Amino acid sequence: MTISKEKIIEQLRRVKGPDLTGNIVDLGLLSDIVISGSTVFFSLTVPSERAEELEPLRAAAERAAAGAEGVEKATVVLTATKKAGTPNPPVRPAPSAGQAAAVPPPMQARAAAAHSHAPAQKAGVPGIGAIIAVASGKGGVGKSTTAANLALGFQANGLKVGILDADIYGPSMPRLLRISGRPQNVSGRILKPMEGYGLKVMSMGFLVDEETPMIWRGPMVISALTQMLREVEWGELDVLVVDMPPGTGDAQLTMAQNVPLAGAVIVSTPQDLALIDARKGLSMFRKVDVPILGIVENMSYFICPDCGGRHDIFGHGGARKEAERIGVPFLGEVPLDMAIRETSDGGTPVVVSAPDSPHAKVYREIARQAWERVEAERQTDKSPAIVFE
Ligand code: ADP
Repeated sequence: MTISKEKIIEQLRRVKGPDLTGNIVDLGLLSDIVISGSTVFFSLTVPSERAEELEPLRAAAERAAAGAEGVEKATVVLTATKKAGTPNPPVRPAPSAGQAAAVPPPMQARAAAAHSHAPAQKAGVPGIGAIIAVASGKGGVGKSTTAANLALGFQANGLKVGILDADIYGPSMPRLLRISGRPQNVSGRILKPMEGYGLKVMSMGFLVDEETPMIWRGPMVISALTQMLREVEWGELDVLVVDMPPGTGDAQLTMAQNVPLAGAVIVSTPQDLALIDARKGLSMFRKVDVPILGIVENMSYFICPDCGGRHDIFGHGGARKEAERIGVPFLGEVPLDMAIRETSDGGTPVVVSAPDSPHAKVYREIARQAWERVEAERQTDKSPAIVFE
C-alpha cells in the first residue's frame, strides 16, 4: 500500500504546538517527511533549550503519524533551532520507547547527573600521561584508520598506549583492531579495558551490539564518554588516543571541553571541502584551548595497485599548504592504498601487519612528530601536566 504524505500531515495537524497553541504543521515545525516502505521519518524543529521538555510532543507526533493508513512505524526526532551566538545547531534525537534500552543502564543513570553538572571539570585521569584527540571535520576521511595506526605508531616508538573509541555513533575500534567480547567488571562500576595488539582499548562497540540502533541524547553522549574515560582501569599509560566522532557539532565541542586533552591531531583529505571542514575542526579545538599537534593528510595520493605508480588524483598537497598558511604543524601524508584499506578493514592495521612497509614508517613518523609536539607543549605550559583528582 502507498502511504500518502497528505494523510500523515492530516494526522499531524491534530498535534498541538509546544505551548498548546496551533498545531505542529501550521506552526511550521515539521521537516519533510521521508517514507521508506511502511516506515516514516521526520523531524520537528524546537528551541534547543526546550528539547528535553518537549519529549511528550515528539512522542505525540510519533503516535499520530503511526496512526496514518499503511504506516507501521514512525520515527520522529527533535531538531534544535540555533540560538544566537552558538556555533552549530545541536541535533538531539530522543530515544523512542524501544530504543531507550539500547543505552547501557549505568549510562542511563549517569545521563541525568551529567546533564545537571555540565560542563564537567577538566580533571586529568590518574595514570595517563597525555590524552590526544584524533578528529576530522567530516566522516569518511580515514580518521579511525589514522587513530588506530597512530596509536600503534606511538607503541612502536616505545610508548605505553591506550585507545578510547569516542565515536559512539559509529564505533570502529572493535573491527579495526579485531577485538570482540565484552569488557569485564573489575570492581563496582570499573571496567577492565579490552586489549588488541598490545593496546588497551575501550569502545561503545564492546558494550552494545552492532545491530542495536543507538539514539543518544546530548547529555548521554557526555556521560558515556566520561564513563569510558574515567571508569576504566587503564593502568599506567604514556598516551591515550581518543578517536573522536566526526564533525564539529555540539557533542564534539562538549567532548573537547570535557576531556583533559594534551592536544589534537586533525585528519583531512586533500579535497578542498574536507579542508574547509578541517578548518572548522581546528577552530573548535582552539575555542576550547586545546593545542593543535598537527594535520595529517590522508588519501593524499594514489598508489596504483597494478603499476605501483603514484597519482595525485585529489590535488595532492592541499593539507600541507593549508597547514603552513594557518601556522599549524603538518605531520605527514598517507597515500590512498588498497593495502591500508584491506588491513584496516580486516582488523590488521598496517603498522603491525607490515611494520617494514613504507606506510608503517609514515605512521611511526607521524607519531614521533605528534609526541614531540606534546612534549613541547608541556614545556611551554605553565600549569602542571597531570592534575590529580
Ligand atoms: P572515518 O573514521 O573518517 O569515518 P575510516 O577510518 O573508517 O574513516 O575510513 C573510511 C574507509 O576508508 C575505510 O574503509 C578505510 O579502510 C578506508 N581508508 C582510510 N584511510 C585509507 C587510506 N589511506 N587508503 C585506503 N583506504 C583508506
